[in-house]
Amino acid sequence: MNTLNENGTAVIDIQGITKTYTVGEIDLQVLKGIDLRIEPGEFLSIMGPSGSGKSTLMNILGALDQPTTGTYLLDGIDVAQLQEKDLARIRNKKIGFVFQNFNLLKRTTAQRQVELPLLYAGGGGNRSLWAKTALEAVGLGNRLAHLPSELSGGQQQRVAIARALVNQPTLILADEPTGNLDTLSGKDVMQIFQKLNREQGITTVFVTHDPWIARHTNRVVMLRDGLIIADQPITNPLDADTAERPSEAEELATVFENAYYGGKAVEYN
Ligand code: ADP
Ligand code: MG
Repeated sequence: MNTLNENGTAVIDIQGITKTYTVGEIDLQVLKGIDLRIEPGEFLSIMGPSGSGKSTLMNILGALDQPTTGTYLLDGIDVAQLQEKDLARIRNKKIGFVFQNFNLLKRTTAQRQVELPLLYAGGGGNRSLWAKTALEAVGLGNRLAHLPSELSGGQQQRVAIARALVNQPTLILADEPTGNLDTLSGKDVMQIFQKLNREQGITTVFVTHDPWIARHTNRVVMLRDGLIIADQPITNPLDADTAERPSEAEELATVFENAYYGGKAVEYN
């Protein structure tokens, strides 16, 4: 963890990032001065209440949007200086995206979905073989010809992960990747992300609402009202292979212990 690459370049190095949206005559400052440095091989989650600016920050990290002020070096490249065409190229080459809703094409096989980024990247090489290898890496070597409708939610998300991986990106950005999955599929997906991070050292940034998911990563950044209010390492991250999520009742019990709204917990049953 936190190993520097040869140049000592951070994967993400942002300083003093602000973002202001203008709606009608009103300026809304959504990010108010964010500094964040993420080293190669880190596995980090961004948490925070709805509206705190998580998606806005992810869009900037993903070079999908430009900040209003501040600097962003992505793998040493000054992203703010780039025109849209170059931005798109950098995005395709350096970043793999995974979304809550999988964002798969309905009438396209798993294999073809994973070939698409290679097609856009324009290089030569054996696209079909690389796509197959990426699908095998997420345990879907036997689902190459399946359409999304023929796959479970967890399997669809694994296709999306294979698609994010196939260009060998420097960075994976995932916005609530387990948000639409049941506990078991969420666990499969976390196993894959942990494995990729541990074995291939892929830098991974998650947005999640779920503290259980965040505890599988190595560092948590907490946003509130457009500012980072906490940035802490997780000393003993959960291992997705073995960690058992407590039952809902057990989770509720702790909630009640900490914060039931007057009266005793038993009075709520
Ligand atoms: P989060 O992902 O943490 O829920 P967002 O980054 O989506 O938060 O949004 C933060 C704030 O910025 C919200 O108040 C939202 O309404 C506002 N916002 C987001 N995108 C836009 C936009 N394109 N135009 C105007 N306001 C926006
Ligand atoms: Mg959001």
